[in-house]
Amino acid sequence: KESSSRYKRILLKLSGEALAGSKGFGIDPKVLDRMALEIGQLVGIGVQVGLVIGGGNLFRGQELSAAGLDRVTGDHMGMLATVMNALAMRDALERANIRTRVMSAIPMSGIVEHYDRRTAVRYLNQSDVVIFSAGTGNPFFTTDSAACLRGIEIDADIVLKATNVDGVYTADPKKDPEARKYDVLTYSEVLDKQLGVMDLTAICLVRDQNMPVRVFDMNQHGSLVRLVVGENEGTLIVE
Ligand code: UDP
Repeated sequence: KESSSRYKRILLKLSGEALAGSKGFGIDPKVLDRMALEIGQLVGIGVQVGLVIGGGNLFRGQELSAAGLDRVTGDHMGMLATVMNALAMRDALERANIRTRVMSAIPMSGIVEHYDRRTAVRYLNQSDVVIFSAGTGNPFFTTDSAACLRGIEIDADIVLKATNVDGVYTADPKKDPEARKYDVLTYSEVLDKQLGVMDLTAICLVRDQNMPVRVFDMNQHGSLVRLVVGENEGTLIVE
């Protein structure tokens, strides 16, 4: 298909919080529908979309363990939360007539397919959206790491990390009026300046494999399709 996109294949990372809308917890179906619409626009212009969704709107292992739960158990709960989010997102996408597959890093027969890279790539090639759920399948990792890992595995052109701010800043723009946004950063700058864009595991992985990452604000309607057709929204992180 002829495409106006600068990317053939992307890996989009949505945080769990992004699905919660203004409630801050759980899943807001209205938010899901808007995301589905924007993802559908990408599919419409011929972009292959891999999706990793976090679970922070439901459970985070670290928070559960701070409250007294065993960390590994908490992380298992967090990974299961990402599967629930993936199911909700698939539902919204399919209601919008976008063919969608959910794969899980943890086998969950009867609910979702087990992750298999070659099958995932085959689905992407036939324009199905593929949601990679259950993170990496391991405790002590995050869905940012899962997004970078899957992005590299499926040979995506870029990892797009949707956040609530329109890029990476010198300081927290909500607290510091002097904070400036970076248009471009190198992996080493992110590490040296401890910018907290993603956890260290994720940053090291994309640095080692030279996978570009763009951090952008998905609350801005249409930002996803704009940056895919060539606008430089947010912050690009490259070598
Ligand atoms: N998690 C995990 N291994 C992974 C990915 C996620 O153990 O590979 C767990 C971890 O407890 C994490 C939770 O799942 O806190 C939800 O993921 P994350 O915090 O990355 O979600 P987000 O902040 O993006 O909503």
